Amino acid sequence: MNQSVPPAPGEFDLIDWIRRRSPADERVPLGIGDDCAAVRIAAGAQALVTTDMLMDGRHFRLAEHGPEAVGYKALAVNLSDIAAMAGVPLAAFVAVALPRDRAAEVARGLHAGMTPLAARFGVVLAGGDTNAWDGPLVVSITVLGETVAPGPVLRSGARPGDAIFVTGPLGGSLLGRHLHPEPRIVEALALHRAFALRALIDVSDGLASDLDHILTESGGLGATLDAGAIPVHADAEAMGRQDGRSPLDHALNDGEDFELCLVVAPEDAARLLADPPSPARLHRIGTVDSAPGLRLRSPAGDVTPIRPRGFDHLASDRRG
Ligand SMILES: [Mg+2]
Repeated sequence: MNQSVPPAPGEFDLIDWIRRRSPADERVPLGIGDDCAAVRIAAGAQALVTTDMLMDGRHFRLAEHGPEAVGYKALAVNLSDIAAMAGVPLAAFVAVALPRDRAAEVARGLHAGMTPLAARFGVVLAGGDTNAWDGPLVVSITVLGETVAPGPVLRSGARPGDAIFVTGPLGGSLLGRHLHPEPRIVEALALHRAFALRALIDVSDGLASDLDHILTESGGLGATLDAGAIPVHADAEAMGRQDGRSPLDHALNDGEDFELCLVVAPEDAARLLADPPSPARLHRIGTVDSAPGLRLRSPAGDVTPIRPRGFDHLASDRRG
């Protein structure tokens, strides 16, 4: 691989440049170069498909963050969605609208950001679509994965009395962590092998919002969270000092942490805490209730209702 040779500016030269840097993989017998890719799925598995689109000025700022960070993030958020089903990622398809004045340079940077992450998780860059225009950079990645026995872990399996866990500290990701999330693929697979996970989601919109997705999909349940048990990231403390919001508020609502939120039966909760499957780190943060709504229990024991205020993708605010 010779990253120092720049591609010629044409689309086909660029695709050829990417193709020459795509190692052969037996799970993708047809990769870049034909009308479609062909991907082998394990016998008995189902294909998992997820798409995320990132736009300059909305999810990142190209001038500030650079194309490598954008490439990393665009792939990582898709891998996080595969993790959220406890699946294995196989292949990624990358569609880009490149800013015309620096198309080749941005494409090379995106590729440089994606390839180490793809290699680390055994993901083949198997195709996509390359365009240039006078607008800002848009990157849309679709990842194909496969389910692992006994099947995907959905959002919809939580029951009253179940225990709620997260895999790491939350809040304040906009200080910079949101650009280089670690997809919890390995953790999700280890948890799925060792425990009957009832529900699973990745924290992208904010813990309160994403947990609410689980509770809604599970038939309109609720939850009580223990304020003192929610792991708060140091970045949430730092942001709280800047904006006056409490670190716990940041942990509940900021999003883009890309930790996992999981729900297990009460009889599994103690075993999960006592013997978490490596490399997963687990924090028990609350309990599923039959009464709808989210509640927060203070260390003193007072219980107050809370409303999810996570990231709304159709709202007019910016993130990046
Ligand atoms: Mg997700």
